[in-house]
Amino acid sequence: TRRAGRPVPRAPDLGRLVKDRPTPGVVTCRRGADKGRWRGGEPQRQALLRQAIVDGVEYDDLEDDVAAAIPRYGDTKRIVSHHDFDHTPPNLEEIHERLCQLDPDVVKLVTMANKPADSVKMLELVAKSKVPTVGFCMGEFGLPSRILCGKFGSPFTYASFSRERELAPGQIPFEDMQRLYRFDFVGRETKVFGVVGDPIGHSLSPLIHNRGFAHDGIDAVYLPFRVPKGEFAATLEAFNRLDVRGYSVTIPHKEEAANYARQRDEDVEACGAANTLVHDDDGWRAANTDQEAALASIRIGLSDDGEDNVPLTGRHVPVLGAGGVSRGIASALMRAGAVVTLANRTAERAAELAAEIGCRHVGWDHRGTGHPQVIVNGTSVGMHPDVDSTPFEPHWFREGTVVFDTVYNPENTLLLKQARERGCHTVSGIEMFTRQAAVQYEMFTGASAPIDVMREAIRQGISAVQL
Ligand code: NAP
Repeated sequence: TRRAGRPVPRAPDLGRLVKDRPTPGVVTCRRGADKGRWRGGEPQRQALLRQAIVDGVEYDDLEDDVAAAIPRYGDTKRIVSHHDFDHTPPNLEEIHERLCQLDPDVVKLVTMANKPADSVKMLELVAKSKVPTVGFCMGEFGLPSRILCGKFGSPFTYASFSRERELAPGQIPFEDMQRLYRFDFVGRETKVFGVVGDPIGHSLSPLIHNRGFAHDGIDAVYLPFRVPKGEFAATLEAFNRLDVRGYSVTIPHKEEAANYARQRDEDVEACGAANTLVHDDDGWRAANTDQEAALASIRIGLSDDGEDNVPLTGRHVPVLGAGGVSRGIASALMRAGAVVTLANRTAERAAELAAEIGCRHVGWDHRGTGHPQVIVNGTSVGMHPDVDSTPFEPHWFREGTVVFDTVYNPENTLLLKQARERGCHTVSGIEMFTRQAAVQYEMFTGASAPIDVMREAIRQGISAVQL
């Protein structure tokens, strides 16, 4: 029925809702002021919460301001909850203490994280609470805490039914919570790894590493940590309290990660950027696995039998692009003895980089000249959704040349399609992406990486992004 154009809210038939439930259930009914959908009166709402107890539902969620008015009865457990959608308040412990006074079986404390360290504060509170506490933070900064609360003692966590129905900011779909992060296996001993960057939402790294851990039965979880520029060092200091053992590092933190570490491998020393941090007895060690992965990808292309140890000495290699990826690959190729020629759309950038690493450069219009043995595309041309573009004219290819495209989305770029049509050997960016992750995985776990499983995970991740 409608009155003055607005639907009259009808009380839900709780008995029908909870009848034949396949699992223990939690009954929650949130007011509009708490970002819920209840539009009826407060007495009716509380009657519903009481009815849940009478019906013997396993858990009833009672906000802290009504918990005292709804007494304990029967076997129903009381979740006494407090939500703060704006921030993680400085008096978190005081709020928690107050909730503990309201006869809870479980305390639920959920606040908005406005910086990565908010999650640390919350998880420390969960760890030392005497009353079982489900405590985590909302928002993208808080996402890791929704999973890590399991490590620090929360009896359960919250997830959304489906990708389309996020009920709170940063909520993780049930399927990801189960299959990607394996929440059921996250416990006190679970080792924590993750990727730091900003933005981080579309990173495929959690998928690749978690899939590897699951395959190898390793008690570890890998999380996306959004960390804004300028907050890298302070955040890592705070995250030390979460016992994070290793990071993948991406834009915009690669240079800062190199400086942050106490030790740096040869590739990091050479290019001043790190994509990996691992914690050992001497503190943080920085590595750059991108370069090793790129060289291995090129070597595979050059070899007849898929081996990745073919020498690169004296090979002529034009590198297209002068951004971060090209810089790393060109400098690694130089150190491996290759003869590198840079070409970049913006000529000055190529000239500057060439002067820095001591290689040749040519104008963008001359990138198809010479008789190269390997061509590397380090530009973003051809990347999804710009899939009909290529940085190279098809008639410039010569049969037998190795063409390595760092673009991995899509796997089969126009550049690679045209190269194959002209009889070239091709290697896709998937190979580099898989290998840089595999080297990280080995540094993180000390075990050899399930490289085929990881490659397949990337392929699946990419097809999901393209949908
Ligand atoms: P970047 O620093 O932004 O550099 C982008 C490069 O692409 C620059 O040289 C830029 O030239 C060039 N470029 C962009 N649009 C162009 C166009 N329309 N025509 C000609 N050149 C163009 O990016 P990056 O970090 O080096 O990453 C480059 C690509 O590497 C990414 O797009 C990604 O596909 C790939 N990648 C692969 C992996 C892997 O593991 N396989 C990992 C990371 C990245 P200007 O200087 O003229 O702007």
